[in-house]
Amino acid sequence: MPEEIREFNPDVPEEILKEDLEKYRKLALEFGADDAVALPASEVVLDERVLARCVSPMCPYFRTNLHCPPYGMKLDETRRVVEAFRWGIFVMNKVPAGEQTGKDYYDPTHRLPGAVKMYKIVAKLQSAAFYDGYPLAMAWSGGPCCKRVFCPTKECQGLKGEGCRFGHKVTPTMHSAGMDVFTMAARAGWKIYPIGWETTADQVPYGLEMGLVLID
Ligand code: SF4
Repeated sequence: MPEEIREFNPDVPEEILKEDLEKYRKLALEFGADDAVALPASEVVLDERVLARCVSPMCPYFRTNLHCPPYGMKLDETRRVVEAFRWGIFVMNKVPAGEQTGKDYYDPTHRLPGAVKMYKIVAKLQSAAFYDGYPLAMAWSGGPCCKRVFCPTKECQGLKGEGCRFGHKVTPTMHSAGMDVFTMAARAGWKIYPIGWETTADQVPYGLEMGLVLID
């Protein structure tokens, strides 16, 4: 939380907004991101096919947590939410290829420090924007779902009506909301490589973790 909390202004002047976006971009780098860009919300790419891929082939995390389909926001809801924002900060981290490849990727003992780091970065950016007077700032992580990252061996507490075990540390993922992260990354100028079940660590130079915080 910042030392000073600004008075809320629903009509933030354009020059202040631009300064704030640059501040959050730099903050993302300070928090450990490899790159971050201010992105007009109109450039968030939404595609029904992203959600279709949750069921074909069937993702092992479908119906297992609060944020993954069929729970969480539907594509039309995401679209309306995204359209209500003007800007976002799109964040990227490169992670060692071995973190995202190999048959043991879904083994809970296979650790995902890069994904945990991205969840932390977008949660901290969301918090910074909130206290700066953007109370509706909203974060998405780009990595595997929260169940895989935070609760791989436990049932989702949220689905039992007991609230998420990790509270504000956890955000929905971009793909669970129907965002086409591959296209967004490529358009941001970041090299991204498809990584699937058969991919081995020597076939790609790195994996990408991404995240998005919509602001204003
Ligand atoms: S309890 Fe675990 S699986 Fe459920 S929403 Fe929270 S982090 Fe995700």
